[in-house]
Amino acid sequence: MGRVPEVAVVGAGIVGLCTAYALAERGTRARVYESGVPGHGQSSGQSRIFRHAHDDARLVEFTRQGRAIWEEWADRLGTELISPDGVVALGDPVPGRLRILREAGGIPARTVDSAELHTHMPLLADYSGPAMLDENGGAIRTRAAIERLTDALGDAVVTDEVISLHPTGHGTVEVLSAAGRQEYATAVVCAGLSSARLARNVGLSLPVRPAAHVRLTFRVRGAPPERVACLQDSSGDFGEVGVYAAPYPGNSRYAVGLSETVEVREDGSFADPDALVALNDRARAYVSRALPGLDPEPVEYLHCWVTRLPWSEDGMAVWEAEKIFFTAGHNLFKQAPRLGRALAGAAMSEGLEENLRPSAALGRPS
Ligand SMILES: Cc1cc2nc3c(=O)[nH]c(=O)nc-3n(C[C@H](O)[C@H](O)[C@H](O)COP(=O)(O)OP(=O)(O)OC[C@H]3O[C@@H](n4cnc5c(N)ncnc54)[C@H](O)[C@@H]3O)c2cc1C
Repeated sequence: MGRVPEVAVVGAGIVGLCTAYALAERGTRARVYESGVPGHGQSSGQSRIFRHAHDDARLVEFTRQGRAIWEEWADRLGTELISPDGVVALGDPVPGRLRILREAGGIPARTVDSAELHTHMPLLADYSGPAMLDENGGAIRTRAAIERLTDALGDAVVTDEVISLHPTGHGTVEVLSAAGRQEYATAVVCAGLSSARLARNVGLSLPVRPAAHVRLTFRVRGAPPERVACLQDSSGDFGEVGVYAAPYPGNSRYAVGLSETVEVREDGSFADPDALVALNDRARAYVSRALPGLDPEPVEYLHCWVTRLPWSEDGMAVWEAEKIFFTAGHNLFKQAPRLGRALAGAAMSEGLEENLRPSAALGRPS
């Protein structure tokens, strides 16, 4: 048997994989426990949006730093991880978001008129309201990221379910899993929906609000456009005020979701079981109105849990209990490499970044 790794990472979603990869960059070995298949949880499916625009200037800066890490890792892993086609945002929030981006500095973003909008977003119906382009945003190549990171970590990723973990009382952490019992110097829990349950075992109450979410994928009509941006539509011009959408690799498919989600009870059951279907129908109706470049018959549905924190749609935080770190938040795909490096630092006893402490409420509108 080889030497036992120093750090246990629970969950091989994008956050756990990035944390283990960031530890490996620094020569620290981790074991990543995954009860299913890497990337099958909230990180599942093709494409996520990488956007810099957030309502909290601290989160904009965090995201800016994260963009550079994605670039660095794409070079090292030998694959494109974010498309070069930008993110287009529509609606009244545009001037405020642009102001925050300009104040942050170093993030190329600007308004675009309806003619230019069409070149970046050829699938969109005519639109003449406020619009901006986040030039360094783009579609995250989610499958490539999950696969390359999993490959790079090799046998550090194990198929095993963590049942519980706790401080031993002598400065280490014990992990009880389906397949055994193991002691580590520290542990980082990136277990998505299960993080709150595991945290409760060590007396922490994470204020996570689980909800159900749906995203539909549509075929692009005709030949795929050479370039197509991601879309964040808050305009209401096409009947919805919270829509996000992103192309698949190759641009022949485009995924569209409403940011609205369906609340669930603590045991995961729905108060209104029809609500998810209603969201599906609204997303389809939106596509018929707003995106004539798409065939309005969906070719794929992605139903998934999301775990929001109460202070913001984009909120994230890390809770700490005697060398065990628990992550929670939503819209974390884009943040994962930067968050992974922060978690790696914390696991290596460098202290948790102040902005990531729950009291900082990272993501709360500034
Ligand atoms: C439809 C949709 C669209 C989204 N759009 C965006 C977007 O555009 N941009 C963006 O940045 N983010 C977006 N997000 C959010 C983003 O995908 C998630 O925040 C992110 O993937 C969460 O990653 P994670 O690693 O924290 O969790 P997960 O991917 O859920 O990973 C947790 C892993 O832990 C494992 N696990 C759980 N419990 C245990 C246990 N006890 N033992 C072992 N393993 C365990 C699970 O099997 C799972 O694989 C979207 C999410 C969805 C669902």
